Amino acid sequence: MISIDEAQRIVLDSVSPLPPERMALLDALGCVLAEAVVAMIPLPPFDNSAMDGYAVAAEDTRGASRDNPRALKVAEDLPAGTAPARRVQRGTAARIMTGAPLPPGADAVVMVEETLARGPSTGSGSPREDRAGPPRAKSRGGRGEVEILREAEPGDNVRPAGEDIEAGVVALSPGLTLGPGELGLAAALGCATVVAIRRPSVAVLTTGSELVEPGEELKPGAIYNSNQAALATRVLSVGAKVAKCLHVEDEADAVERALRECADADIILTTGGVSVGEYDFVKIALERLGEIKFWQVRMKPGKPVAFGEVLGRPLFGLPGNPVSALVTFELLAAPALRRLAGHENCMPTTVKARLLTGLSHKPPRREYVQAVTQHGEDGYVVQPSQKRGSAMLTSTVGANSLVVIPEESVGVRAGEMVDVILLACAGVAP
Ligand code: AMP
Ligand code: MG
Repeated sequence: MISIDEAQRIVLDSVSPLPPERMALLDALGCVLAEAVVAMIPLPPFDNSAMDGYAVAAEDTRGASRDNPRALKVAEDLPAGTAPARRVQRGTAARIMTGAPLPPGADAVVMVEETLARGPSTGSGSPREDRAGPPRAKSRGGRGEVEILREAEPGDNVRPAGEDIEAGVVALSPGLTLGPGELGLAAALGCATVVAIRRPSVAVLTTGSELVEPGEELKPGAIYNSNQAALATRVLSVGAKVAKCLHVEDEADAVERALRECADADIILTTGGVSVGEYDFVKIALERLGEIKFWQVRMKPGKPVAFGEVLGRPLFGLPGNPVSALVTFELLAAPALRRLAGHENCMPTTVKARLLTGLSHKPPRREYVQAVTQHGEDGYVVQPSQKRGSAMLTSTVGANSLVVIPEESVGVRAGEMVDVILLACAGVAP
């Protein structure tokens, strides 16, 4: 029986990143970028206003204050998305909205809150005062006068072209994991697609003549198939695709046929049928159709876990017991999926945490206990589940982590520091 460390080494040595492909931005979340995204335009693409207000020549505002306002003629309206039609001449300003291009002749924007707009003097009646509201007019024409209530410095409220990124610079480097920020930047640069490592596809094959699908009638001696739902959703949560979900009874030919059907996926996950029982056909089929690289690992739960290759595809023969299946998925299959997806760090994140309730243990297997880890005042604290059976699915409810009990430990007391593996989808900030 090999150690979990050795098993993980064998797994990671057996798989390599999948080829890249061009994909739409919305399909690329969590994927690893394979080709650099180079900025073909600067960001922002042109000098523009950071505020709703008035574009001015700063010099025209010298000495302006609330007590000594400077009146400027409003020559133009510039909503976002328009190109300035005229120069801001001395003594004039342009009404400008956030994101609109700074017109030539202007070098600063005075925010609307520091101005007082006066209606067109050519209109009938007295000038209308319009204090401290966002400019509303859509008209591109002149809008009377504005009083500037504060002196502006050149560059005030102006976002210069290229201040975020210059054209020609690598914006996103290969190897980056594409999250909302990266994908947003690609979009801002005008890229509709990126070239990234494609998502691994996974076939999930559950085995067992005792299993019926949820929603069906439970016959005597039968139980519901929970591994399919638990594992297929774990697959999704690490960013891989579920290519198919199959279920077979414990029957040699049926298992073999199903495995052949699974062989067009990048990885095959099976559950059940890998122990030493007479009906453990997965292991038998694995020997017949491919090669076993290991079978049985010194871990708890999950000792009977097989890894090998079937018809050229990596296959994880996970145990049938639901908690064992999830733990072996996390420790062995998830790292393989991350490597296939091109990630540098494939191993689960481990942190130190203070144990809140003691845990008994007997050597010599490394044990993983479902747990809830939280950030306390003094670092992480971890509450292990009191249910430790490999079939007790309630222990996984709310669990965001696994307490690791070392092989040779004879138990861990409350208050001791322990290693905790943070589960990928659990949302504990490492
Ligand atoms: P096996 O490894 O096939 O001997 O299964 C070990 C235990 O896990 C047995 O009690 C099975 O009934 C149970 N089991 C196997 N597969 C599943 C499944 N897909 N869903 C729920 N329990 C299962
Ligand atoms: Mg079985």
